[in-house]
Amino acid sequence: MLLEAQRRRVVEVGLEALRRGIVHGTAGNFSERERETGLIAISPSGIPYPETTIDDVVIVDAQGNVVEGKRRPSSETPMHTMVMRQFDHVDAIVHTHSHFATVVSTIRPYLPPILTETSLVVGARIPVTRYGLTAMEDIGESVVEAMTPASRAVIMRNHGLITFGQNFDQALLYSMLVEEAAEVYVQGLAANGGREPNLVPEELVDEMTVRFNTSYGQPAGER
Ligand SMILES: [Zn+2]
Repeated sequence: MLLEAQRRRVVEVGLEALRRGIVHGTAGNFSERERETGLIAISPSGIPYPETTIDDVVIVDAQGNVVEGKRRPSSETPMHTMVMRQFDHVDAIVHTHSHFATVVSTIRPYLPPILTETSLVVGARIPVTRYGLTAMEDIGESVVEAMTPASRAVIMRNHGLITFGQNFDQALLYSMLVEEAAEVYVQGLAANGGREPNLVPEELVDEMTVRFNTSYGQPAGER
């Protein structure tokens, strides 16, 4: 069996996303790339997370052709493979329809810096894509157009959220942080009569990020 460890992680991250309430039913999809071969393990299409086994996970190549697997791969496979072809910093992708990020996708061109932690870890502005045609190359193109070589998250217009990591731990963390910030933003707007709530001063984000990265947590080797 190809990419057994990656298959297992695809199953586990789906269950974890379900536990955390950022996916439901069969919505959302997950993929991890193996660096050496460029092969990608991706969720199967339309199988509920608690029923998904490592045999159901599908292995595709960089073009999205099935290399191994008895199931059809996620309908959003072209989006995953397109992002991984074009961005070298991405080896794990988490795509969800989490509620508040999706609300933001209907009202704004980007999620502004509303929570300090999200701004520092994911970025000051989380871009919202143009509308992309689902399950086609077009939605992948809409995501890639909104990305930079350091992108960690993109909100998909009238659709959901996609996050990018070197592994699922990172990508899942970014999904949680963006959803948390989107919830505070939507509720802040509502509580403020629809006017923009107080934001993190954007010009301070870069400086704080440097400080955060050098002073947060314990020094390496002392954990
Ligand atoms: Zn979707």
